[in-house]
Amino acid sequence: MQITSLDPATLDVVGSVPVTPVDAVAELVARARAAQPAWEALGPRGRADLIVQAGPRFLERADELGLLLSREQGKPLAEGVGEVRSCGGGLAEELDEMVRAFSPEQLVDARTNTELRHDPLGVCAAITPWNFPISMCAWMVLPALMAGNTVLLKPSEETPLIGQAYVDVLNEFLPAGVLQVVHGADDQGKALVAADVDLIAFTGSRAAGAHILQAGAPNLKRVILELGGKDPLVVLEDADVAAAAKFAVRNSFRNAGQVCVSTERIYVHEDIAEAFEAAVAEGARGLVQGRGTDEGVNVGPMVNARQRDHVLAQLDQAVADGARVLAGGAGHHGNFVVPTVLAGLNHGMAIMQEETFGPVACIARFESDDEAVRLANDSPYGLGAVVFGGDEERAGAVARRIRAGMVGVNRGVGGAQGSPWVGAKQSGFGYHGGISGHRQFAQARIVSSRRQDA
Ligand code: NAD
Repeated sequence: MQITSLDPATLDVVGSVPVTPVDAVAELVARARAAQPAWEALGPRGRADLIVQAGPRFLERADELGLLLSREQGKPLAEGVGEVRSCGGGLAEELDEMVRAFSPEQLVDARTNTELRHDPLGVCAAITPWNFPISMCAWMVLPALMAGNTVLLKPSEETPLIGQAYVDVLNEFLPAGVLQVVHGADDQGKALVAADVDLIAFTGSRAAGAHILQAGAPNLKRVILELGGKDPLVVLEDADVAAAAKFAVRNSFRNAGQVCVSTERIYVHEDIAEAFEAAVAEGARGLVQGRGTDEGVNVGPMVNARQRDHVLAQLDQAVADGARVLAGGAGHHGNFVVPTVLAGLNHGMAIMQEETFGPVACIARFESDDEAVRLANDSPYGLGAVVFGGDEERAGAVARRIRAGMVGVNRGVGGAQGSPWVGAKQSGFGYHGGISGHRQFAQARIVSSRRQDA
């Protein structure tokens, strides 16, 4: 059986991969387990020295793989190429940080010498989504491998070709059995979770994450879940309206809204709401929608018809419930949903509560900082949030009251080098990135002895 990968803009066939039979998963896991001791024995620096060689290969192949990514997932070509380049550029520094994370440390007190180790867990299942189909593979696979685990990667069934390409590049440099791929959809994901693996590193929807947590519970499998979000943008009354609107447009429509930290809800102060709404609508009307590989396009299609129908259903419902359409509307052709700006939203509507993952900017108004914070926090999700305000100190104070893992002030959510990528509440269970995030892919152990001189 094959998975046929379609271009979501045209429904042309991009290619296909063989589905991994569910009953072959146990054998692949056994192969990974057999390869693990020798991989562990290389130590963090030895592992980094092998993996780092993949960096130049990603850079050499960035145009070719970026085109494949854009065709398979739909995002603009430049963003596809950029995503592949991000797997190569900076790889050496990233690996150096992981070498530091996984190297043993010495702790000493008056009586005891302790070696604090960060040892491999064993075999890791890495399960990834389609929206950043190569960088998500890197995010899960690199710390898992660098910790000394061997890995089975199941890329999304929507983007198997780019997932396979990621594995092929790394496998030019890795020993056999250290990194293998499992192709398929939920059934293969479930089989992998149920197999004899020690760690499940998952990025995807909250529903699948909850299932994985349950499935791993009987054996207390280690689980790292990076899940969905419903990120708020709060625009205070002293904000630079043009800058806030520019950010809102960029962050609502990037990758056609199919980004975990997309702006999904906007709360703007009553005093500046009209000007802000007009600027966001104008920005949305200026976007060029089309096939990602076409010149000048900045918004592509939804990844598939299911995602399109989900977005359209939320849009239709919001309009039926009284939302005003400032740009776009519930129109579509093929898998394309027209970039849409809605205003007059009320916080209780489904489109303000459930993850949309589409090209829609939803604007509601507030009257006080307390109200904005209350609305922003009234969600089971807590991935990212952004606050715009003219007085950075006051905007920062509002930002600190928002219960999200990553909050940006007058900018997006990403932190400085070394910051973790972390979801609070039901947006995550564990996290990755930064020294503390890398270490979640390892088992902490201490080996202590009495100080001879004590
Ligand atoms: P999804 O949960 O449908 O699928 C993700 C992966 O899990 C796929 O490979 C899929 O085949 C597999 N899968 C699905 N059900 C499974 C199960 N029960 N057991 C094991 N594997 C299973 O998500 P998606 O539609 O591919 O991706 C979109 C979601 O991912 C959005 O919710 C988005 O917010 C989230 N996401 C989160 C982050 C983050 O950093 N927090 C990053 C990117 C995407």
